[in-house]
Amino acid sequence: MCGGCVKVCRSLYDKRWRRARDLGCADREVYLDFPMRRVTCTACGVKNEKLGFLSDSTKYTLRFAMQIGGLCRAMTITDVAGRMHLDWHTVKELDKLYMRGATCACRAAGAERHRRR
Ligand SMILES: [Zn+2]
Repeated sequence: MCGGCVKVCRSLYDKRWRRARDLGCADREVYLDFPMRRVTCTACGVKNEKLGFLSDSTKYTLRFAMQIGGLCRAMTITDVAGRMHLDWHTVKELDKLYMRGATCACRAAGAERHRRR
């Protein structure tokens, strides 16, 4: 699946090993190593494939991004950055991703409530 337009692509361009930060274990940072394929999309050109467990930034898993967003609900961005050993801007971007997901979930819940009436 193309990471740009999310269409199914059958032509493989190449494959590379990538590393993404995942949820930590106790006081340890955990990283996942996985092969990521690049596909030749007819609309977008050469793009990374879309993987469901990755956030929009391929350096972090989606659940790690959700954890950072959750921490930002209780702490300042500076505090989260210091605690998780991340750059302030990285925390801000992951928090935006969390908020975008929360907004989508609220819209879906609102639409469901509207349908029930
Ligand atoms: Zn595409």
